[in-house]
Amino acid sequence: SIMSNQFDIVVIGAGPGGYVAAIRAAQLGFKVACIESESYADPKGEVRLGGTCLNVGCIPSKALLQSSELYDQANHAFIMHGIGMENVSMDVTTMVRRKENIVTQLTSGIRGLFKKNKVTLLAGRGSFAGREGDLWQIQVAGKEETQTVLATHVIVATGSRPRHLEGIPVDNRLVCDNAGALSFDAVPKRLGVIGAGVIGLELGSVWKRLGAEVDILEAMPDFLAAADQAVSKEAWKVFTRKQGLNIHLGVKIGKVTAGEQGVAIEYENDAGPQTLECDRLIVSVGRVPNTDGLGCEHIGLELDERGRIKIDAHCRTNLENVWAVGDVVPGPMLAHKGMDEGVMVAELIAGQAGHIDYGTIPWVIYTHPEIAWVGKTEAQLQSEGIAYRAGQIPFAANGRALGQGDTTGFIKMLADARTDRILGVHVIGNNASELIAEAVAAMEFGASAEDIARICHAHPTLSEVMHEAALAVDKRPLHF
Ligand code: FAD
Repeated sequence: SIMSNQFDIVVIGAGPGGYVAAIRAAQLGFKVACIESESYADPKGEVRLGGTCLNVGCIPSKALLQSSELYDQANHAFIMHGIGMENVSMDVTTMVRRKENIVTQLTSGIRGLFKKNKVTLLAGRGSFAGREGDLWQIQVAGKEETQTVLATHVIVATGSRPRHLEGIPVDNRLVCDNAGALSFDAVPKRLGVIGAGVIGLELGSVWKRLGAEVDILEAMPDFLAAADQAVSKEAWKVFTRKQGLNIHLGVKIGKVTAGEQGVAIEYENDAGPQTLECDRLIVSVGRVPNTDGLGCEHIGLELDERGRIKIDAHCRTNLENVWAVGDVVPGPMLAHKGMDEGVMVAELIAGQAGHIDYGTIPWVIYTHPEIAWVGKTEAQLQSEGIAYRAGQIPFAANGRALGQGDTTGFIKMLADARTDRILGVHVIGNNASELIAEAVAAMEFGASAEDIARICHAHPTLSEVMHEAALAVDKRPLHF
């Protein structure tokens, strides 16, 4: 169209789901706009691209995990290499500034990618205003003015925000969600965390390594219930016994009071009523989809019982030419899942065969050791009555892991007992986040354990543990 306010595709939200959808759609020749409202902590008050992931999620958390890991190694690991260190210190301001610089570099990088691909950025809050012929009317409420744009297709990628507990107001000073917890100005002496999920464990680890006494309160009776049991058992052992994270399971949170002296959390567990006193509290109890103010009721966009936008297997909503991707739809709240959905939708709109295999999306927890898996757990295979063979090899049997002084954990491969097709791979150990990629590729190609067993793996590398795990499925490991 020659009209300046009319687009083939309007994307609402510039997180990983939205910005990737916008770029892919522009590559395919569409006229694309992307609407984003958030400025986060931008010093110039400019709209910030990249969503939760780049600004207050994946990227900043990994930056702090790296800094705190190095500090921890300087204190505890260098000595075994013969490296003497005195007066190791940590300047939290420098650490947080480094993180901010990485975030700024990446968010402005996306601005550059929008320019390069000719994606129009519209700063403001997007909402559905109605229909005009075959087109959707989208209102963009900016800081100064409100405009209406027209779109043939709309991709909703509004993401999620932290769930807050009732009666526990988050001020991001004493009581923090992920945004506050990534920007502490000092190491708290005593840190409380509610929720032992991925975010709670990662952020708890950061501040624990820097010297905080960390207590994590978790409502569920089981630790890391989504992971394979062998992995969660090993993780529990390492996190609690070796690293000294105090994780309390099966906890019922009561009253939380924040005052000048800190935060007091009343809770109950098997042993009766307890109180946890801490200087700061992180609330990481899950995330809620961003659908309010979108005008869903207005146009009849259907949500499920948990407020997520209802979609079919191809991210189509109940409305014509309205699609939804990322954290705002059901499925794992992972950046790479949202990005893949964004690409799929752009390609489907272009008439191509967009496709995602939801069974091969990798999960990663960036603690130390890292945890990563793809496919099914042993418990899932058992409950589905699928006969399987398992091969498990510890990193302690690997020369590279020994050289690195980091031998915790193992790789476990599960393969169909009849066909040998790989059904799941579970890694706990140094670099699990990178190692899992081989398993994902193998599963995408429908590989058998024997396929991995016959692939040449460089020596000495951690990837040899994947090789040995595949050999172990057939009970013929060479080095274990
Ligand atoms: P978001 O990233 O939430 O982006 C949505 C965007 O839409 C936001 O910028 C928002 O401002 C904007 N928006 C919302 N409503 C409107 C509107 N009406 N108009 C205009 N704009 C709007 N995932 C991983 O895969 N790996 C990790 O290591 C990882 N670490 C994480 C660590 C933390 C601390 C947190 C909190 C999350 C982490 N995640 C991680 C999850 C990941 O951040 C999300 O899955 C991902 O950001 C979802 O992408 P999205 O595009 O769907 O939504």
